[in-house]
Amino acid sequence: MSLLDNKNILITGGSRGIGKSIVEVLVKNGANVGFTFTSSDLAANNICKELNSKDAKCIAYKSDASKFDQCEKLVNSFLDDFETIDVLINNAGITKDNLLMRMSEEDFDKVIEVNLKSVFNMTKACQRVFLKNRRGSIINMSSVVGVKGNAGQSNYAASKSGIIGFSKSVAQELGSRNIRCNVIAPGFIKTEMTDNLSESIIEGWTENIPLKRPGESIDVANLCLFLASDLSSYITGQVINVDGGLLT
Ligand code: NAD
Repeated sequence: MSLLDNKNILITGGSRGIGKSIVEVLVKNGANVGFTFTSSDLAANNICKELNSKDAKCIAYKSDASKFDQCEKLVNSFLDDFETIDVLINNAGITKDNLLMRMSEEDFDKVIEVNLKSVFNMTKACQRVFLKNRRGSIINMSSVVGVKGNAGQSNYAASKSGIIGFSKSVAQELGSRNIRCNVIAPGFIKTEMTDNLSESIIEGWTENIPLKRPGESIDVANLCLFLASDLSSYITGQVINVDGGLLT
């Protein structure tokens, strides 16, 4: 018996980085997982090939989480394939960093659409299923930057703070129906997203982390495993940092 046996989980942005680790951890713990990707069909199909087994199913869907109609279609396809949804993980995210002085309106809007509007789109599309089942767990990926802010990331910080307010409201709105909504706030995690940071920025961040090292995708995935499972059934409306102590 595995921790996530019989759980059907939908996650956005699962073909690389933190999302890919989450997909792997969930499937290895018995869940059936559908994940979205936006560009590389090959990478997505390879993940499915590797993870599909007689005990757990893994399917990739090409879908843009920032588009409301695509999210509706995605949830319908997922229901055709898996019958129901037990857990939604909103992981998709991008950065378009710049000082406010140089930030274009386009870059502000794009980050809000992909990081924040996507969370509304997916939660709205899954809500009817959770309400019908009278259970569900929603896990939204914010960031320590959404809690603390960060110079050069006002668009990203606004989107990630927005996720926290949205999630706390959803937790209060849907708690009476046994639907939980929690937020993960990762600190500095080594992925493709952080690959293009300069050495000096990485050193500066690491110096301020009590554990004195960046986190790994698996550190975030392990918290997802807990929040997706029934071990966390009395936890909702929380923001949990995975940051090596950065915000303490
Ligand atoms: P990443 O760039 O490696 O992965 C992001 C994923 O989001 C990719 O799979 C990408 O395809 C997907 N995505 C982007 N736009 C999308 C769209 N419109 N629709 C659907 N999917 C889309 O980044 P990561 O480091 O793995 O980050 C994953 C999440 O964790 C993001 O929300 C990010 O903001 C958050 N986060 C990351 C860190 C970090 O240090 N890496 C820290 C805090 C928070």
